Amino acid sequence: MRKPIVAANWKMYKTIGEAETFVREFAPLAAEFRDVELVICPPFTALAAVAQGLSKAGLKGVIGVGGQNLYYEAQGAFTGEVAPGMLTDAGATHVIIGHSERRGYFGETDESVRQKVGAALTAGLTPIVCVGEKLEERERAETMDLVARQTRAALDGLTAAQVARVVIAYEPIWAIGTGKAATAADAQEVCRHIRETVRSFAQSAADSLRIQYGGSVKPANAAEFMQQPDVDGALVGGASLEPASFAAIARGALRT
Ligand code: PEP
Repeated sequence: MRKPIVAANWKMYKTIGEAETFVREFAPLAAEFRDVELVICPPFTALAAVAQGLSKAGLKGVIGVGGQNLYYEAQGAFTGEVAPGMLTDAGATHVIIGHSERRGYFGETDESVRQKVGAALTAGLTPIVCVGEKLEERERAETMDLVARQTRAALDGLTAAQVARVVIAYEPIWAIGTGKAATAADAQEVCRHIRETVRSFAQSAADSLRIQYGGSVKPANAAEFMQQPDVDGALVGGASLEPASFAAIARGALRT
């Protein structure tokens, strides 16, 4: 059985102090979520503070901490970039790779995503790899081909054992930050297609690889998404910024 994974993508929100306050307020709620893998992905500047706050609350290894990006080289003259080992040194356990905002605004490509996934795995980080279509691609009925291509490209060259450690986040771009979520049935259909794509080249990993849905997930719709058989959790932006809202979403992943 796949353990659900619910990740908070804070994007470019929260100072160190605000991140510490979130952790203090969220910590008492954490005991509810032993059967769910929770991950907080703050901006780089607050990552160590979140890791330390969780550690102080006895939640190190219970709630994960993720970067929102990384670079695939170990070190060097790459101004503005952060290496995988720097993330783990700051306390990260996970890293988001290829978010549509990175692909759209900062020139991430399928090739850079592939390199980053390999580097994350080598550093012992769990990559959360984002795939998903633009509205016009959905309207042209290209969704399935596109997510299959992005998935294959991101996982190219990995062993099945490595593939099984990756999390894929299906995030239709038109649903991110817009308040317009996909339907649960749409999310299931695409997540299933992603799993079958993985099965075609890494058969033994397909049933253990976890696939999240992301895009305007809120307390009111979270459970419906995560009850779908091929949806193993959520990647949450806006609604993850408040502890009560993030907890309410995570409750949707609890299996009764
Ligand atoms: C995201 O940032 O990955 C995301 C899904 O954002 P939102 O939940 O705000 O749509």
